[in-house]
Amino acid sequence: MLIARAEIEGRAPCAVRIAGGRIAEVGAKLEPRPGESVFDAAGGALLPGLHDHHLHLFAWAAARRSVACGPPAVRDARAFADALRAAARATKPGAWIRGVGYHESVAGPLDRSALDALVSDHPLRIQQRTGSLWCLNSAACRALGLDGRDGRLFHADAWLRERLPADEAPSLAEVARELSRYGVTGVTDASPENGAAELAAFARAQARGELPQRVVAMGRADLPEASTPQLARGARKLHLSESSLPRFEDLVAEIESAHAQGRAVAIHCVTRTDLVFACAAFEAAGTRAGDRVEHASVAPPDTIPSLAALRLTVVTQPGFVATRGDAYRRDVDSNDLPYLYRCAGLVTAGIPLGGSTDAPYGDGNPWAAMRAAVDRLAPDGLPLGADEALSPERALALFTTPAESPGGAPRRIEPGACADLCLLDRSWSAARRQLESSHVVATWCDGCLVWSGGRGFAHSCDLAGLAIPSTPC
Ligand SMILES: [Zn+2]
Repeated sequence: MLIARAEIEGRAPCAVRIAGGRIAEVGAKLEPRPGESVFDAAGGALLPGLHDHHLHLFAWAAARRSVACGPPAVRDARAFADALRAAARATKPGAWIRGVGYHESVAGPLDRSALDALVSDHPLRIQQRTGSLWCLNSAACRALGLDGRDGRLFHADAWLRERLPADEAPSLAEVARELSRYGVTGVTDASPENGAAELAAFARAQARGELPQRVVAMGRADLPEASTPQLARGARKLHLSESSLPRFEDLVAEIESAHAQGRAVAIHCVTRTDLVFACAAFEAAGTRAGDRVEHASVAPPDTIPSLAALRLTVVTQPGFVATRGDAYRRDVDSNDLPYLYRCAGLVTAGIPLGGSTDAPYGDGNPWAAMRAAVDRLAPDGLPLGADEALSPERALALFTTPAESPGGAPRRIEPGACADLCLLDRSWSAARRQLESSHVVATWCDGCLVWSGGRGFAHSCDLAGLAIPSTPC
């Protein structure tokens, strides 16, 4: 395929020839070859396909079939009860109901008896907004052999998946289509519980053509290496939670053992204490390329020198400013407010910075995250951490860096590169003023057109039979 009349890095017109999943040629004037299909970019900016450096595919797929139980959809106990009762009426008897996004500001802490009062004749499970806690009603406890427990399950996603009925396992196809519409051609799945079963499920979805995006899967210590070019094993994911920190020596040993396996380590840090603890552990264990801190939600000035000295990459979620900024202003210690989801401060300190959405815990639209990185506006329209604002170019770069180096140099459209591409409906100079996913008009994964908004352009190849390059990009 030839993509004609595109703008690349500000130069137009440019043409790009795709062959065998890779970019074969880039030039001002490339003539179509006999039989070659031509895609007219009509002057739109052609960008490297976006990579979302931290999200959770299965949780996202499941969330799409779930009841929203937190702000902004549900803000109080009454709306919460109404939403669950409506779901119960719409669900066939005995079938599971799944709620997501719960926050204690809605109806206080949840447990089994609180949920029984709302829904007793269906097994019900509700996930806290952070993703780490599930609350079950009595019917759900009985179904899972947890009678006599309070119905609160921490870090139990994989455990639940193994025990829930097969029709509960969500397809990734819809999520993949949404990613394609955003111009996302690769993702890093940051779920700590990923193991061999999840890796196999990603590979199956890719082989069936349901998931054209490349996937890097972080996960457990026993996560096997992946055997296809579109799927790679990523970092060992470790989850810190300030209220139950591991023993320091144990964390250091976990990092050392991942490094001995040749794997980088990614540590989830959302509080100041988490970050200080993680940095100290990295310092004791030593760091290697690819080691990263997920979120660094609160990164005050005294944590910066050690992040920088350790050469740790930070993978941030500026989108949370746009979706939760007003709640942060109420709930977060005022000393920490200026240091929430920092961007410019980290870049200036030379800390490699990559971007992500953390879908489904954040809005999965990377353009909304880029916009938040630029305007730093909370839902109430007021700025939060305005000093941390990035330029539109730097915000885009959060999502165009390579999967293995989220804070590295952005990928470029050049011969030999993988043909993972995202085309906008306008020049970059126009798009930068209004970062919107609606400007994405076409997305190619591995040289295959997987989205072409409104143009009626058929898929350029059969994804399931896709010619995949023999070496990973
Ligand atoms: Zn996450």
